[in-house]
Amino acid sequence: MHIYKSPQGELTDIYYGDIPTFLKTSPNLQADWSTKIIMRDSNSRDIFMTAENVFDFENRFAHILAAKYNIGRDDVVALATVNSVYLPSLHYSVLHLGGIISPSNVMFTTKEYTYQFKLVGARFVVLARHLESTVRPAAEALDLTMIFMEDLITEATALPAGFSVPDLVKYPGKDECKKKLAYLNLSSGTSGNPKAVMLTHHNLTSNVQMLMAVGSSILKPSNIYAGVIPMSHIYGIHMFIYSCIWTGGCVIFFGKFDFENLLAKTIEFKVSHLFLVPPIIVLCAKHPIVDKYADGIKKNLKLIFSGAAPLSGDLCMAAMARLGGRVKISQGYGLTETSPVSHFPQPDSPLNKLESIGWLVPGQDCRLVGEDGQDVSKPYTRGEIWYRGPNVCLGYFNNPQGNAESFEGEWFKTGDVAMCDEHERFYIVDRIKEMIKSNGHQVAPAELEALMLTNPDVADVAVIGVSRIELGTELPRAFIVLREPNIDPLSIKKWFDAQVSRPKKLWGGVVVMDAIPKSSAGKILRRFLRDRKGDRVYGD
Ligand code: AMP
Repeated sequence: MHIYKSPQGELTDIYYGDIPTFLKTSPNLQADWSTKIIMRDSNSRDIFMTAENVFDFENRFAHILAAKYNIGRDDVVALATVNSVYLPSLHYSVLHLGGIISPSNVMFTTKEYTYQFKLVGARFVVLARHLESTVRPAAEALDLTMIFMEDLITEATALPAGFSVPDLVKYPGKDECKKKLAYLNLSSGTSGNPKAVMLTHHNLTSNVQMLMAVGSSILKPSNIYAGVIPMSHIYGIHMFIYSCIWTGGCVIFFGKFDFENLLAKTIEFKVSHLFLVPPIIVLCAKHPIVDKYADGIKKNLKLIFSGAAPLSGDLCMAAMARLGGRVKISQGYGLTETSPVSHFPQPDSPLNKLESIGWLVPGQDCRLVGEDGQDVSKPYTRGEIWYRGPNVCLGYFNNPQGNAESFEGEWFKTGDVAMCDEHERFYIVDRIKEMIKSNGHQVAPAELEALMLTNPDVADVAVIGVSRIELGTELPRAFIVLREPNIDPLSIKKWFDAQVSRPKKLWGGVVVMDAIPKSSAGKILRRFLRDRKGDRVYGD
């Protein structure tokens, strides 16, 4: 066995306990508890929070959730909420009561919400009012109690000043934080349908500590962050509900993504750090509107960080050229299953390389396992990344098959292929799991294939992601076998796209085939489909 370790060494002073208390004890927050503004609403100068306000709202929300809705230990609370300054307090309050959070993508269809609520056994859903028409049928079908975020905020605000609920605290104690579930987030793992990843309090606290051990020179209390990526995905949750708050910097919350608004607010709020996904970096590199804002942005912006999907070095260069000056771009890597940060760049180091995902963060062990099952130990040799460490999830909820596929003992198998160079920098070079990354969102081909097969005109199907690195994304493409030759593939695409959320639509089009290539065991030969050239593609 060859184990790769972080060049930064081991993690020291490991915290054992619950997440909200971990945050409250951050020296950066303690230093300016009731005076420093750590959160702002991008749309209103009047909406902001100090650490004192944030944890006051945590208490208020916890009181309402317990007293009015009887939410308590191990209740699963689904969230269909947009980014807002109140969202971190909501997360802390559910965890405060011993509850488990299952965040949903606000783009979901009713069917997709239903799938998630059922999978995680949710009993409650906190939702934004504008999502009611999509969420309600799912909540009613499964008998979930709906709690409107707007009402929660109004009721919490109306509670008297100095309100506190110490008797409600049911935080996991020191010993149980490694087992106590905090989150059930969706990820499709190696293959099959989306699964619920079991993340504990300790997974999250240790991953924040792991990031801080390498990122403290970047993540400073003077930073101003744009919180624009969805805080329903582990990347947004980790950065804006935990790590950036821990740093004592200020997060500007964006309720929805609008590129020009992001550029304008980056100037207005003097944003210094942007945590983005590759498709937004493509916009920074190519969108004509950037010219109007580039000079203003350059004044304060220091770093654009990319995560959640592959980013090409060329794109980084193009975006940097556009924004010029001091702006650096770097990418990291991680997965929902690793809470998520496992590799992080050092943008200020001369060894930093744009195409690389950086170095292992301390506290975890990593292996690269080759196709022959042997550990790779030489630079520039490919192997699947395996991890073990305090940030690795407990497994997939109620899914022995998924666990058997993705875990070998305490090692989690990522399904991503990487190599390391002589400076211990890692590069992602391939993905062997089925998952598609569409605009930064996970898409499970099995889910799309099951839906496609409900169409009576389709005899067989396989879905893959077509890589468009220049667009910073992969595009879901369906290869279909038609029952009758005269059926219009575009009508099938239209029927399909109407039933799924944005990232799952067949942006990569539809290809008609005589038969789907399969192994003798009936497994779809996806690599064969990925390598095909010259197909007639309908509707890409
Ligand atoms: P998620 O659990 O949604 O965060 O998805 C994790 C997956 O996103 C990984 O297994 C990778 O396939 C992909 N991913 C994340 N970051 C990168 C990166 N910097 N380069 C390539 N792939 C990435």
